[in-house]
Parts: sequence; C-alpha cells; structure tokens
Amino acid sequence: MTTSTATTAYDRLYVGGEWIIPSTARTIVPINASTEEPLGSVPEAAEADVDRAVAAARAAFAAPDGWATWEPDRRAAAMERFADEIEARSAEFASRVSLQNGMPIAVATQLEGAYPALLLRYYAGLIRQPAAQDLREGVFGGTVEVRRSPIGVVAAIVPWNFPQALAMFKLAPALAAGCTMVMKPSPETVLDAFLLAEAAVAAGLPAGVLNIVPAGREVGAYLVSHPGIDKVAFTGSTAAGRSIAETCGRLLRPVTLELGGKSAAIVLDDAELDLGTIGEGLFTSTMLNNGQTCFLGTRVLAPRSRYTEVVDTFTAFAQSLQVGDAADESTQIGPLATRNQRERVEGYIARGIADGARLTVGGGRPGRDRGWFVEPTVFADSENVAVTSHEEIFGPVLSVIAYDDVDDAIALANSSEYGLGGTVWTSDPDRGAAVARRVQTGTIGVNRYIPDPVAPFGGVKSSGMGRELGPEGLAAYTNLQTIYR
Ligand code: NAD
Repeated sequence: MTTSTATTAYDRLYVGGEWIIPSTARTIVPINASTEEPLGSVPEAAEADVDRAVAAARAAFAAPDGWATWEPDRRAAAMERFADEIEARSAEFASRVSLQNGMPIAVATQLEGAYPALLLRYYAGLIRQPAAQDLREGVFGGTVEVRRSPIGVVAAIVPWNFPQALAMFKLAPALAAGCTMVMKPSPETVLDAFLLAEAAVAAGLPAGVLNIVPAGREVGAYLVSHPGIDKVAFTGSTAAGRSIAETCGRLLRPVTLELGGKSAAIVLDDAELDLGTIGEGLFTSTMLNNGQTCFLGTRVLAPRSRYTEVVDTFTAFAQSLQVGDAADESTQIGPLATRNQRERVEGYIARGIADGARLTVGGGRPGRDRGWFVEPTVFADSENVAVTSHEEIFGPVLSVIAYDDVDDAIALANSSEYGLGGTVWTSDPDRGAAVARRVQTGTIGVNRYIPDPVAPFGGVKSSGMGRELGPEGLAAYTNLQTIYR
C-alpha cells in the first residue's frame, strides 16, 4: 500500500478484518473531477471477493460470542473508538471525497469529514440508553414479550454523491443493532472507502463486522441477490432502486431505498427574499454539492404576485455562487462528479431550452479548460416543461414555477412522482409548518433544511421506501420477535 500527495494506491481489499489479495487483477482508477487527472488505483472486487466478504460477515454475525451478542455498552464503546479514528482522519476523508466527486472542500469538511463520526456517536448514545423489557399483559392471559434482534448480514450499496455520510447512514445503525455488513462503494468514490477500512482496523473493529467491496453495478447486483444477505440498504437512482427492489421482492428480502427527488421550495407570499438573510439556507437546500443531492428543492414555487421578484432573487443567488476547483476553500460550486454526469445535466438543460423554458442565468460551462463544470443555472416560465418541472436533473439547475394561491402551490408540489425533501419560505414559521404538513414528502424544512440524525429521513412515492436516521433508522436493522409466555 503506498500513499503519496499525488496519488493513492491500494492493492488489497478489506475483508474479514484483513487486507486480502483480490481474486482478479482488475482495478478502479478514480479521477479528479476538477482536473480530470487520475487520483490513484484500487482493486475492483469481483464475485469471488463478494463471496468471501459475505462469508466473513456471516461468520462474524453467527459467532457465539460475536458482535451480535455483545452487550449494547460494549458495542457502543467500539463504535466510539471507531468514531475517534474517523475523526483523526476527518481532513483526509474530506479531501479524498472532494477530489474524487468535486464536492467543494468547505462542504466536504462538514458533511464528509465531521458528520459520519457524529452519526456513529449518535447511535452509540442511543444503545447506551437502557431499554426496558417490553412485557405486555396478554388479552388471552399470560405475558407477551416483544423484543428486537439484529437483522443479520447487511448489504449496503452506496452512491458517489455523499459517499461517507450515506455509508454511515447505514453502517452506524447497523453496528448499533448488532448487524455485520458488506459495503459496496461506487467506483467513482473508492479512496475514502479504503480510509474507512483503515479507521476500522485502527479502532480494532472485530474481523468481519465490516467488509468493503468496491465495484460497479453488476457486482452490486450479485451482492444484493447473494444468499448470505439478510437485508439490503441502498441509496442512489430510482432506476437502480427499482431493479434492487424487484430482486428483494422476489427473495422476500427486507430493503431500504433512498432514491431520487425533485422537491419543491415553496416561497409563500410573505417570504423574506433578502439573500443576506436567506442565502445560506437557500444554498444548502437548493444547490448543495453542485446540485448532486437527492433532497434539494429544485422546483421553486413562487406566488404569481411576486413571481418576477422571486425569479430575480434566484437569478442573483445563482450569479453570486463562487464556481471553482473543489479543493479551493472559497468554492461553493465545484465540478460535477463525472463526465457522464455533466453530459446528462447538459442534455437536460438543452431539453429545457428546446421545450420553451426561459434561461435567466447559466446554462453553459464556466470557461475553465479542465473539470466537469456546469454553471449554476435558473429557468423561469417552466411550468409546462417536463424536464424543469418533473425530472431529476442532479446538477446546479433550478426552475421557478408560478402558482396562484396556497392550494395551487400544494397541488403543484404534490404533482411530482417524487417526495423526498422540500422547503417552505415564509416570515411566519407556524404558517410554514401548516403548509409543510400538506406536502406529500418524507422530509421538509421551514426556512432551512438539513437532515438531522435524531429524526427519520427518507422518501415517499418514487423517492424510496423505509427510513434512515433516528431511532426508526435503528429499528430498520432489527427483527421483531414476540414470545407468548
Ligand atoms: P446509480 O443509482 O446507478 O448508482 C448508485 C450505486 O448503486 C452505485 O454504487 C452503483 O454501482 C450501484 N448500483 C447501480 N445499479 C445497481 C444494481 N442494479 N444493483 C446493485 N447496485 C447497483 O447512480 P449513478 O448511475 O451513479 O447516477 C445516475 C443518476 O442517479 C444521477 O444522475 C442521479 O440522478 C441519481 N443519483 C441519485 C443519488 C441519490 O442520492 N438519490 C445518488 C447518486 C445518483
């Protein structure tokens, strides 16, 4: 294993608590999204490596004195040691993610550097709280005991947009519940996954509790359908989610799916539109990570009475964003993660223009000769244009759509096939919460949006099934058992 400032190379896979020799010579070469230069090389896992990883996770789960049998306090202590080791590497996590997928380093420092350890500590804290035995007086006499046990070996399929945070959405509750895991990172973001393995080794996480198999979708599909897997947790596109759900349906295998979105940012007629006041909240909820974030409110719903003002505000907001190399501390919008991703986003922008939406800012490349950049872009007059009103673009592209009254705004918000995030902008937070309750979505914010670990996160409709985070996210890694006594 060699590490240099220029590139990072690994030649082993982390499986069964060891660095094993991979079954093939295939490699993955992650690319710097800002410069298009190679960042290193890692082995690509093949089916035989997945077999070994699943076997190791099964052995760790089934061991009579293994992870699943540990008292919660002991598991919590191990998770806290893991969090310590991740924190010790937080700057390197942020840097690796930012280089690979173009996430601005200021964003990566918080969401990929700091947030994952915080999630581990949150779940360690949850299982440290003593749980009372759940004994119920039976209707037919006797006592009924209701208990939860760890669900088993989990396959986690992780996307490239928030590779560490979304890995930890799965790993932290799974570890807390007593499960073991085989994790498949996306080929675009593999270097951070190896750092996670190094942190696990340094923390002394027991062998086989976490196994990492970097690979593409075919090996991912092999893992999902593997007979040794008890549950699948997936974040990514709706198309891949449907395919995984079909497999899990056939196998009757529990699955959690966090998929795409096209959430609404509902601007009420009393909203404050001063960018000095709302700019930061707008950034997190509409443009975070170069628009490559599933929960973003990319459909801005504006009251007809203030339509021009809202379009002008969002145009000025997009113009104000600092576009640049992801490694630059002042960058707010970096490059898209891959060449393919830029092609997709540019294709959507071209279709929006062809279908009659009016571009108010952006739409092109920001005049840099390297990196997969797209300018922050705003469309107006886009109500009847499919691409701007309905399809997930997954880039820095917003559309502003006019509504007549609040009922109309809610009907528009709910006209989406998706339902993951969203925001309501208003100077009256109670009114905002009342509007938020009428939106068909798994999560929504009033004048702010950030998924908080204490509460369930996930979507309705084509945005997914099941929830991550909160105690509900922990329950998703357990089976219920009833004992009639
Ligand atoms: P994707 O959904 O195809 O890939 C995400 C992860 O799933 C990767 O690790 C991939 O290898 C794996 N995967 C894909 N198909 C699989 C299958 N059938 N079985 C098992 N694993 C599988 O996403 P992508 O191709 O990288 O991006 C395409 C689009 O997906 C983006 O433009 C965006 O719209 C959307 N996306 C959404 C999210 C999100 O957080 N909701 C994340 C990434 C991408």
